[in-house]
This record gives sequence, C-alpha cells and structure tokens, in this order.
Amino acid sequence: MSIQVFGLPVSRGVAIGRAVLVASSRVDVAHYFIAEDQVAAELDRLQTARAAVAEEFSALKADVPEDAHAELVALLDVHLMLLQDDTMQAATRQWITERHYNAEWAVSAQLEVLARQFDDMEDEYLRERKADVEQVAERLLRTLARQAAAQGAEAVPLAASRDFGGDDPLILVANDIAPADMMQFKRSVFTGFVTDVGGRTSHTAIVARSLDIPAVVGAREVSRIVRQDDWIVIDGDAGVIIVSPSPIVLEEYRFRQRQIELERARLDRLRSRPSITLDGQPVALHANIELPADASAAVAAGATGVGLFRSEFLFMNRLGKLPDEDEQYVAYRDATLALGGLPVTIRTVDIGADKPLDRMSLGELRHEHALNPALGLRAIRWSLAEPAMFRQQLRAMLRAAAHGPVRILIPMVAHLSEVQRVRVELAQARQELNERGVPSGDVQLGAMVEIPAAALMVNSLLAHFDFLSIGTNDLIQYTLAIDRTDDAVAHLYDPWHPAVLHLIHQTISAARAAGKEVSVCGEMAGDPAFTELLLAMGLRSFSMHPAQIGAVKQRVLRADANQLASRVHAALAADAPEKAWALALRQEAAGEP
Ligand code: PEP
Ligand code: MG
Repeated sequence: MSIQVFGLPVSRGVAIGRAVLVASSRVDVAHYFIAEDQVAAELDRLQTARAAVAEEFSALKADVPEDAHAELVALLDVHLMLLQDDTMQAATRQWITERHYNAEWAVSAQLEVLARQFDDMEDEYLRERKADVEQVAERLLRTLARQAAAQGAEAVPLAASRDFGGDDPLILVANDIAPADMMQFKRSVFTGFVTDVGGRTSHTAIVARSLDIPAVVGAREVSRIVRQDDWIVIDGDAGVIIVSPSPIVLEEYRFRQRQIELERARLDRLRSRPSITLDGQPVALHANIELPADASAAVAAGATGVGLFRSEFLFMNRLGKLPDEDEQYVAYRDATLALGGLPVTIRTVDIGADKPLDRMSLGELRHEHALNPALGLRAIRWSLAEPAMFRQQLRAMLRAAAHGPVRILIPMVAHLSEVQRVRVELAQARQELNERGVPSGDVQLGAMVEIPAAALMVNSLLAHFDFLSIGTNDLIQYTLAIDRTDDAVAHLYDPWHPAVLHLIHQTISAARAAGKEVSVCGEMAGDPAFTELLLAMGLRSFSMHPAQIGAVKQRVLRADANQLASRVHAALAADAPEKAWALALRQEAAGEP
C-alpha cells in the first residue's frame, strides 16, 4: 500500500528509486561503498575487529573480582555470545558482500534490523535485551574505527562507481546525515536524500542542493516507515515522500522528471551569457564549493569566481589526522588554478555547531561538550582558540595566493577584538612564511556578516575589511533565534522576516556607501525568489551552488535593477514583505507606478 510522508522541501526535483537505509548510531560511523575487489579485505577487517572485541570481553571477565556479582560475568558471557552468534555474523557479512557497504556501515545496518525486531517483541524482558545488542555493536564499531585510525587510513576509499545491486536508482533514507557523511555521499550514487530531522539550511540540505539532487528533510518518522529496498518517490518541490507508489503515481512523477530535465537544458544554454541586468549593470554570480574538486564544475556552470569555499569540509572524515599546511596549500592552490585567474574566496574553518569534527579528530582539543553549540565555540571563535591551527590554515591560504587572486573570509565575526586578533595572526603567518623563504601572495580580507551584531556595527567592520559576505543562513538563525537544523521550529525560519531583510539591506547599503564589495553567500543568493529583491537592495554579487546559477541568471537578465530599487522601501516597510514584494513585481511587470 502506498504511503505519503510530509517533510520540508529543501532541494528541488523528483527522484524515484529504492530506499537505502542508514541507521543512526551513538558512535561516529563512517558510511561508504567499497569496490568489488575490496570485499575480501573488508570482511577481514570485520573479522579482526570481532576477534579483538572477543579478547576484550575475555580479559574483562578475567578481571572481574572473585566476590563480584555473578550477574556481571553472566552479562559478559551474553555479550560474547551475541558477538559470536553465527546468524548475526552471516547477516553482517552479507551487507558487505552483497551491498558493498563498508564494515562499520554493515554493523550498524544489522544493528538496525535487530533493533526493529526487538522493538516488535511482546515480552518486555526480551525487548530490553536490545540494549545488549547495541552495546556489543558499539564496541565493535569503536574497535573498527580505532583500527582504521591506527593503520593511518587517510581518505576513506570509495567505490568509484556502482558495481553492485542492479541498476535501480538509490535514495538514501536516514534519521540524520552528518555533514561528514554527506561529503562521502557526494561522490556516491544516490539520486535523492530523505531524513527525519533537519531544516532548510541544515548541511544535509545544503549539500543536496549543491549536488542538485532532490531532498526532503524533517520528515519525522520516515526512516522508521520506509523499509530497506522499498520503492520511493521524493518530490523535492512539495516536500513529499511517497512510499511504494502506485503505477499511476509513478507515471505522473516520471513525466515531471522529464519536464524538469527539459527546463535544466534550457537554463544550461545561458551558461556563457554574461550576467547583466536589462539596465546594463553587471552582476557577479559566484559559486559556493566544499572541495577543490568542485572548482572546475563551478567554472563549467558559468561561475565567475568562488564566493565561498567552505574549507571545514577538508577537515572531515579524517579519522584523527587533520590536514597539515602542505595538504591544505595543495587544496587551495588547486582550486585557485582551476579558476584560472577568477577570484577564489576561501573561508577559514567554520567548525562547531552543525559541522562538528569527528570525535577522533577532536583528540586532545578541548571543545567537545558545548552546552549550546550554535552559540558556542564555532567558526572564528574556534580558530582563535586554536591559534596554531589557525595560523597553519592562514599560511596555506597565503601560499595559494601566489597562484591567483585568493580572498580570505572570516566566519561569524562579532567583536572588533576578533578582527584585531585575526590581523595579528595573519601578519604572523606571513612572517613565518617569509622566514622560511616560502612564496606567498597578496590577499584581500573579508568578514562574514551572519550575526546581527555584525550587521548592526557594519560601518566599524567596513573600516577593517576589504569586503563583506552576508551569510544569510546564520543571519536568519541568530536574528530569529531559530536553530537552522531543528525541524520543530523550521516553520519559523523565515528569510522574508522584516528584521532579516532590514539587516541585509542595511549591510548592503553601508558597504556600497563605503565603496566596498558586498555579496550574499547564504542560501538566499541561490533562491530565484529573492533575486530581484536583492538586486533592488543594491546587491551586485551573489554566491551559490553552481547548479543554481542558471535560474538566478535568468532572473538577472530580465531585471531592471534601477527600476526595482525604487520599489524596495515600500516592501521593506510592509508587515508582510513577501506579499508586498510580489505586488511590487506585478506592478513592475505591468509598467504601473
Ligand atoms: C551562512 O551562514 O549563510 C553561510 C553561508 O555559512 P554556512 O551555511 O556554512 O554556515
Ligand atoms: Mg554560516
């Protein structure tokens, strides 16, 4: 029977495929597909870890004092038995041999299957045994991760293409997908994403948009309703997931898919058209990227620069070994070279809150237990708390600047004291390079305006920075006190809120008056619903996922920026700016005053 589940539409389009479930876990679990020729090695890895855990249990048992409660020994026996249970071992191995999951994913997938079986049990005593299975699996997962780290595994080996499980398209269904996992899946085979939790600007949503793959987040119980291999449809425009669709519904969605492809092909044809408004004003359309490999795709999509390189993604999936100066330099240099003389804006790491480092990489760093991570040690605060790491990153950027126009962007600036410290660290980083005789280039320094304080003191910031970039994702979060990843308050996350628009307008106007460049690099920049409004506010530089450039360019080409500007104040003064602006656009189109 077909079931509909509703969530938040965060990445447009239609995907039809079979569900691949990713279980959530209290342990960091790496999820990736392995290639056919890695299957045997992966089975060995699982076996080695299992043997190590069995030894741990035996050692623990031996250490139990004579007079201790016999229950403890019995419990360890149960755990050992679960670990070595033949049926369970065979089932876990099957995930590796048949589906090509990595060992950690296979363990957590099997755990999920068992957890569901336990949840369905009538007998309360048996139901509670679920905790034992979880503990054993978690110990196995930790051991696998430890062993991988000890072997110095760097980047996780990914299957380059899909060589398993037939030709059906796959859709990932999970409670949540960590940003680090999203990066793995970025080079993978999924044609759609669905999660129980998350908001419009959570990083699952952002990465899905960057891949131009349909996604619905905040769909509550979806990962419990959908079963492995179910056929599902994702309607990324309406935010609906249809589980086991009927043939008629499938046909309707296949038709929609074809229409979307035609529309894409039409927008593709705008790729080499210069982005200029009807009244002749050039508008920069830059790209947001996560990895250097994205840079050439950005140029191919018609981007005239990189407006935001989220460097923190280089720090994910590292199993405890963060990138050193040379590795970062190569990444920034490669992006710079790929842009062939166009500007590359690299943001210093925005670690923390919804983009945490994995626990192993945190290692001895001391920032693990934030009470309220979004208000805690993230972004520039994190960097300034780790000055050696920060200078290392700045050195890598300065070295990359020898190969082309690099601009350094500082996230979450709120205090002038931070600005001063950034300047000191930057000067020191350059001096260190000079002392080593390593070439470096000039850089421009910019600040992200993503905390209301920054927007309210924009003139002070402008005195210290060469350019500004408005991070609307966080600016909305902090202005409205809405956690951007929390689906429970997602309906209140409103880019049209008058307070948000006022702060954006004020920032653009102040930067223009000071003769400095200002751009928007949050999700609003890539949403065509805001293109005319941002042009009307005076914005001439937008940065977005490459896949969105065509749709935004189409709006720019049809807009008269001067005419629009004359209508902006009325819309901003309205109680409901969205409606007021829609009316203004209709009047504009009809030539009414
Ligand atoms: C933003 O906050 O708008 C932004 C671009 O940064 P991020 O989404 O990476 O926090
Ligand atoms: Mg931000």
